[in-house]
Amino acid sequence: MNMQSKNGLLLIKLLTLNSLLVLCASQDFDFFYFVQQWPGSYCDTKQGCCYPKIGKPASDFGIHGLWPNRNDGSYPSNCDSSNPFDSSKISDLMRQMQSDWPTLSCPSNDGLTFWGHEWDKHGTCSESILDQHGYFSTALNLETEIDILKALQNAGIQPNGQTYSLSSIKDAIKGASGYNPWIQCNKDESGNSQLYQIYLCVDSSASGFIECPVFPHGSCGSSIEFPSF
Ligand code: AMP
Repeated sequence: MNMQSKNGLLLIKLLTLNSLLVLCASQDFDFFYFVQQWPGSYCDTKQGCCYPKIGKPASDFGIHGLWPNRNDGSYPSNCDSSNPFDSSKISDLMRQMQSDWPTLSCPSNDGLTFWGHEWDKHGTCSESILDQHGYFSTALNLETEIDILKALQNAGIQPNGQTYSLSSIKDAIKGASGYNPWIQCNKDESGNSQLYQIYLCVDSSASGFIECPVFPHGSCGSSIEFPSF
């Protein structure tokens, strides 16, 4: 091999290494958690809730977030302060954001604080895959893919304040979606464990649901309440 082709080979190797490094540095996560929330379980707690300015959200699961996560259970956060939330980038999504990603924090507000928190903390960590508009529109689309409330209701599990077995809830969601969910509980004002959030997993390019590589820690009781809203 002459000197020129040796140099050429070296350059190709360096370029390949460089692009691999750039890829690793810009995508510091392995998958996403897509987290949906039962509003009744946010509101009936000691902390309580406030309905958004436009009025009481629908009696349905809402989005909490789309969170980049690593296979070892850790997750990156607040990855790019130079790219803060800018609501003008999602003005075409506002109606759907208000109905499917409702804010419940107090005092009553328009949701921009909640959505901004989700973008700044989680969204900036997947900006190599999804820009702001892509991040929110992807989450909104994922929400429409699996109707969790319908899946539960079809299995006789209603938001009526009754108690259901955790396994029946998981089975109903697995049956309808094809994927094993992780259920997060919280406590109502009297300290009863209740269905709070549902975690499903999405592949690292945000193209569809996958089985979760790892579940968060913590657990619900074997039977949990499903409050009304
Ligand atoms: P995160 O930091 O993404 O894990 O989200 C947790 C934060 O989101 C906490 O400050 C919660 O109080 C807040 N949060 C969760 N659900 C809602 C909601 N529906 N509306 C407003 N804030 C919320």
